[in-house]
Amino acid sequence: MNLKARNEATPSLRIIPREQHVISRKNISKAALRVLYRLHEAGYDAFLVGGAVRDLLLGGHPKDFDVATNATPEDVKKLFRNCRLIGRRFRLAHVVYGPEIIEVATFRGTGEDDGEGGDRHIVDGRIVRDNVWGSIEEDALRRDFRVNALYYDISDFSVRDYVGGMQDVENRVLHLIGDPVTRYREDPVRMLRAVRLAAKLNFRIDAAAAAPFEELGPLLLDASPARLFDESLKLFLSGHGLKSFRMLEQSGLLKFMFPATARSLKRGDEALRALIEEGLRNTDARVAEGKSVTPAFLFAVLLWGEVRDLAHAWIVKGVEPSQAWGRAVAHVVSEQCQRVAIPRRFTITMEEIWALQPRFEQVQRKRVFRLMAHPRFRAAFDFLLLRKAESAAIGELGQWWLHAQQLPQETLAAALSGAPGADVPPTGGGSPAPKPRKRRRRRKPDGKSGAA
Ligand code: ATP
Ligand code: MG
Repeated sequence: MNLKARNEATPSLRIIPREQHVISRKNISKAALRVLYRLHEAGYDAFLVGGAVRDLLLGGHPKDFDVATNATPEDVKKLFRNCRLIGRRFRLAHVVYGPEIIEVATFRGTGEDDGEGGDRHIVDGRIVRDNVWGSIEEDALRRDFRVNALYYDISDFSVRDYVGGMQDVENRVLHLIGDPVTRYREDPVRMLRAVRLAAKLNFRIDAAAAAPFEELGPLLLDASPARLFDESLKLFLSGHGLKSFRMLEQSGLLKFMFPATARSLKRGDEALRALIEEGLRNTDARVAEGKSVTPAFLFAVLLWGEVRDLAHAWIVKGVEPSQAWGRAVAHVVSEQCQRVAIPRRFTITMEEIWALQPRFEQVQRKRVFRLMAHPRFRAAFDFLLLRKAESAAIGELGQWWLHAQQLPQETLAAALSGAPGADVPPTGGGSPAPKPRKRRRRRKPDGKSGAA
């Protein structure tokens, strides 16, 4: 975007001295401080910038620390042995301290080629490469939101605000820098970033920044699926998944990332909505407790509605159940991966979680133990519990398996062989065993059950 258009939205520089803000070096990682000091001592400008400054001002604990400087990536490489240069579209230096990586970016310009080997390419209004070095003022203007364009200066511990970011932190609002339509055309993923940051920070999105979502949302169809995968993990697995999901749906952007999910919800699939909401609530709680979360489970939750409906529709039409499930899974996964590039290792686990669902209905002794020993049993069982809104029978099935796992193995084995098949209450009467399903699965000629 040209500088003039941005300047209209740009107040002048405001410097907030150390005693007037809350950022303390205590809360900045040692690695980031080392990078800042080394650059400073070598005579370069060195600032902490972006999400870290924003989060520190809000009293949070940033996970990653980004540094901005007037040193070029090559200059940075000369200063740090533990440095590697990365990126083509956006060249950067990574300084590595054990598990921690400090991203060091050279100030980006806003204009044409600087004649010093930098380059910036714009195709149909989209930035496809951005390697023109510039001043700190220009660097501030090319950032997305005002709250993301604050610079913490290591030379005097002040915060520099070129675009009114401090005011937005105080008012808890996200304004884009410059004209929203131009900025979203340059990079449509900024729309998702608006939603994600609003959810994460509990900020509102300024009306002018939200207004173009409907018109420009379809630009997300051309966004890189790999980038959308990264963005979807940040949206849903960073501890504010439920809020992100709700805001994504309300903003109309969900359908461009997860079309099948959006269709199911639009059809009024309340069981899926309950599954997703509960799944994300649990995920948020796990993140808050520092426990691990898996992308495979998340995607299994988001896409289940359409897989289930397609499979059932084909079964009703007479397609053999295992084929119907297989086709439904293939259909949904292939459509989804064109939008969001879910790596194969996650789609495999996701498909296993789905494939085990019909097997929970088979509560004969041998099958029960075989299923419990399956490497995906735990994930599939958690998934079954989330499905309780689908029907009372599935709710009971979940409870049956919950109790079955709580029994000592011998007790369970005895209970299961004590009476024929599924009619054994393994809790000694506390919980009714699920009734065998009325709709019998057709048997394959080899006698195996026909479900997925
Ligand atoms: P978080 O780390 O919480 O996800 P963040 O704002 O730090 O949020 P990053 O992706 O780490 O997000 O980006 C760091 C900074 O780089 C941002 O604060 C912003 O200044 C700038 N930035 C990132 N993505 C864009 C973009 N698409 N357009 C313009 N500036 C961006
Ligand atoms: Mg960040």
